[in-house]
Amino acid sequence: MFDQKKHVFDLWATEDQTPTMRLSLQAARTLHTEQTPYQHLAVVDTLPFGRVLFLDGIIQTTIKDEFVYHEMITHPALNTHGNPKQALVIGGGDGGTIREIIKYPTIEKATLVEIDARVVENAREYLPEISCALDDPKVEVRYEDGIKHVQERKNTYDIICVDSTDPIGPAVGLFAKEFYQNIYEALTEDGIFVAQTESPWFNQELIRRVHKDISSIFPITRVMLAFIPSYPGGMWTFTMGSKKHDPLEFVADKFPGYETRYYTPEIHKAAFQLPPFVQELLK
Ligand code: SAM
Repeated sequence: MFDQKKHVFDLWATEDQTPTMRLSLQAARTLHTEQTPYQHLAVVDTLPFGRVLFLDGIIQTTIKDEFVYHEMITHPALNTHGNPKQALVIGGGDGGTIREIIKYPTIEKATLVEIDARVVENAREYLPEISCALDDPKVEVRYEDGIKHVQERKNTYDIICVDSTDPIGPAVGLFAKEFYQNIYEALTEDGIFVAQTESPWFNQELIRRVHKDISSIFPITRVMLAFIPSYPGGMWTFTMGSKKHDPLEFVADKFPGYETRYYTPEIHKAAFQLPPFVQELLK
């Protein structure tokens, strides 16, 4: 029998975060593994982060720090908009981004477009704290490619969150300029889009290129930072493209005050303050 205190059973879950850097989490047990049509999926109970969802060996979300990512990919954009009614999440099959979006009473419909149904099904089974809002009547879950979904929509969404895996496999196109152009067209006239854009330590070329592409399409482009210990380097970027509203002009007393554990109006302001080495990437 596993004895956590004595560490008698030496099981470790290891992510190759970069070709030369690994993160190892001591594991209590592996709950599930499978090869889906799109990727290898594993759910592991770890000692430092609680339950963790891995896709192709890469940490997607952990019970301990998921709130940082899910609050920051949603609240800054939703508050900047002020009156979002139609929201789209691309990827995000664990359900955490949808959970935050439906806290906003102005939201009439939140659509989740996830390519891999098995991610959603496993999140429902093993990560109820994260997937809990997927059955909300305002939520529609569609199993299709987010790239195709936005190609076929015009002037439809107030908010689009691109909650993708790293730019490999089916997610490569979610970091392409053509995709950002299609997102622009799928947004309403004052729509806002936000994407997770990886680590400012280990994905510098990607951040530079994505910022350049989004700035060439959207009148307002802003990068923000959040601190997510299970992701490579801990410091993470999100990039926002906005047609009209500037997140830097957000007025704190407009925040409706939902229960959050990371996001606050002060964090909203602070997140857009970038250290010089990150500013340098955006020039
Ligand atoms: N928080 C996570 C992170 O940054 O590591 C992302 C989590 S979420 C599980 C990412 C999801 O994007 C995966 O479930 C994956 O199946 C989905 N995905 C990848 N490419 C996609 C595409 N082209 N269309 C829709 N969903 C896609």
